[in-house]
Amino acid sequence: MWIYASDRYVLPLPAGHRFPMRKYAALRERVRRLAPERLREPPAADDGALGRVHAPAYIDAVTNGRLDAAAQRRIGFPWTPAMVERSRRSAGATMAACRSALVHGVGVNLAGGTHHAHRDFGAGFCVFNDAAVAARAMQVEAGVDRVLIVDLDVHQGDGTADILGDEPAVFTFSMHGERNYPVRKIASDLDIALPDGTGDAAYLERLATILPELSARARWDIVFYNAGVDVHAEDRLGRLALSNDGLRARDEMVIGHFRALGIPVCGVIGGGYSTDVPALAARHAILFEVASGMA
Ligand SMILES: [Zn+2]
Repeated sequence: MWIYASDRYVLPLPAGHRFPMRKYAALRERVRRLAPERLREPPAADDGALGRVHAPAYIDAVTNGRLDAAAQRRIGFPWTPAMVERSRRSAGATMAACRSALVHGVGVNLAGGTHHAHRDFGAGFCVFNDAAVAARAMQVEAGVDRVLIVDLDVHQGDGTADILGDEPAVFTFSMHGERNYPVRKIASDLDIALPDGTGDAAYLERLATILPELSARARWDIVFYNAGVDVHAEDRLGRLALSNDGLRARDEMVIGHFRALGIPVCGVIGGGYSTDVPALAARHAILFEVASGMA
């Protein structure tokens, strides 16, 4: 199994910005100490890959610094050349993690999960939609037909639902906090909205019921797993209440379920918003730890 990470994931932000950008460096360092032989630098997604799911005018505006102030505010990051590079690397890493999954059973991007990016605009810290880009890329280049997206970030996967809603071979599933962003949700193929304060037991029970239903829908060629840790009780944005043990049980349940069926799994870290960066990196590292135990 290969793990994709880049120092280009760390975007210089204005002082006091609420996005915990240092988590990417901390997570990469943690994984490097544990499994340096598995780490790979991802390629950047090119215009061809991005253009399958994003409008050419939007790709052009991002690339050439022509996002207006409102568009930048909606994304939540100021435009810089580094922001473009980060966004392309992150989408490229999810594509590369897919290729690892198709060969080794599992692949992980230590970024990604940018599920609020729509066809022609970015939002909620998401510029390009890595799952949509990678799903279409695998269909075109790797003989993949049916794709299942399991989005367990605490925020609903509105951008992914919007972009892939008309793709009959792609099924989008999102389980999220009912009262979390975005306020106006775009229906996935299947959505489960959880009440505030949902803890490990109720969460895992719901997940255990839904996974067999998802795998019974079709013979999936690959599963995209957004393992956002903003479902954690101490997350600053998420309204759910999972523990670290709950996160680990969740990741084991999802990856274990599909691996037992022989279905490749591409994991991405998704959201996580805590000011305690070491604690946050440790939460994100659970995906790596579980995945490396299974491939
Ligand atoms: Zn999130």
